[in-house]
Amino acid sequence: MSLSEIQARILKAEEAAGRAPGVTQLIAVSKVQPNERVEAVLDEGHRLFGENKVQEAAGKWPAFQETYPDAKVHLLGPLQTNKARQAMQLFEAIHSLDRPKLANTIARLAQELGHCPDLFIQVNTGEEEQKAGVLPADADAFISDCRALDLPIVGLMCIPPVDEEPSLHFALMRKIAERNGVAGLSMGMSGDFEKAVALGATHVRVGSAIFGARDYG
Ligand SMILES: *Cc1c(COP(=O)(O)O)cnc(C)c1O
Repeated sequence: MSLSEIQARILKAEEAAGRAPGVTQLIAVSKVQPNERVEAVLDEGHRLFGENKVQEAAGKWPAFQETYPDAKVHLLGPLQTNKARQAMQLFEAIHSLDRPKLANTIARLAQELGHCPDLFIQVNTGEEEQKAGVLPADADAFISDCRALDLPIVGLMCIPPVDEEPSLHFALMRKIAERNGVAGLSMGMSGDFEKAVALGATHVRVGSAIFGARDYG
């Protein structure tokens, strides 16, 4: 699928849901993709990208940003505290804030660096053992603890279980966001972004549908 095709499908889903056209931001997930494919999407004019790993992003984005200075990158994958400083310098937003220790580290570094990326709190809506994120039952308390640390919490993020209907998870996310006054919802990937848009996603994270399958070689 082409980038413009994805954008058209997002617009259509926004209209069908009675949402304002263009409210959903498309994050093109470029992890593991060859540089030529990423450059092709940059050449098409797209400027918002997502990466899963600090190291991988650090290895390619500073060079891309020399040519495309307005390109922005969001971190979508888990973040170790010892990489928080580097992440805060590289990324415009971090979607994987998921524990008190990381919140405390980011708060301390924000003081020191004088800036902080936008932060999304990851919610483990499927309560899966192997997945990161706060449990739905702990979300309200964690959001309020992060706000007490003056962290810029702009949204929530989830990755639904692969074998469940994603809409149920997206609806739960919207409920948690609404009752906490959180504006952003980072949800929806290649297979389900239209469902996410229907349920209020402000950011969809689409990789393989734009770039093709990832080759982990
Ligand atoms: C890889 C990844 C995506 C994109 O997945 P696709 O199925 O290729 O669209 C989105 N979000 C996160 C957190 C990811 O790790």
